[in-house]
Amino acid sequence: MKIGLISDVHANLEALDACLADIKTEKVKRIFFLGDAVGYGPDPNKCVELIHKKADVKLLGNHDAAAIGLLNTSYFNQYAQLSMGYTCQVLSEKNLSRMKRFQMEASFDMMKMVHSSPKEPTSWGYILDVEDAEENFKYFEQQVCVIGHSHRPLIVKKYKGNRCEAVAHDFVHIDDDYRYIINIGSVGQPRDGDPRASYMIYDTETNIMSIRRVEYDCEKTQQKMINANLPRFLVDRIAVGK
Ligand code: ZN
Repeated sequence: MKIGLISDVHANLEALDACLADIKTEKVKRIFFLGDAVGYGPDPNKCVELIHKKADVKLLGNHDAAAIGLLNTSYFNQYAQLSMGYTCQVLSEKNLSRMKRFQMEASFDMMKMVHSSPKEPTSWGYILDVEDAEENFKYFEQQVCVIGHSHRPLIVKKYKGNRCEAVAHDFVHIDDDYRYIINIGSVGQPRDGDPRASYMIYDTETNIMSIRRVEYDCEKTQQKMINANLPRFLVDRIAVGK
């Protein structure tokens, strides 16, 4: 069976649609969503509706938490705060109540799922490199932990007591002797210099997890952002993936 893992959609409907189309051609049976349906982008309602309809697992991201009033936005940067103002203005009651049912973490087989980090799931800590990953391995029991939050794909593996190391490819075979932390990247606002939408497919038969990059109509999203008066910085960044 193939499982599609998506994260950090950030109200980018064109990117979400493109990933869902790719998921369909890959004959994916289940979809797990790792958080941040809203924030930054122009289409929070349609994205929450689609995620609600399509995803079997739905996690809460920090922007989702802010939108439902669980997180004060004072620690957000100015652009995140401005876009949260727009998000809260347009989100429907129905979608807010859907988001209130998003979970903090979930697990499936040997896989733990959390939006930010196993060490600090509710204070939204970041795992940006192998050092951060090393520290986090002791905070989950499962063989693999999949995350989002940084918007940068990263695969880290750890052999028993050795220090962990980054995998140089965008895919990995899950070996019994290793443990893994895998950041699946962002659907709606990638920040690794590649503007294409990022998500992951886990093939439970081959035991391979692979990051996929999908082109989408970024200019259409940008025009909607301009029409919604969202900050120019946010409009520009999705075209360069930074
Ligand atoms: Zn995010």
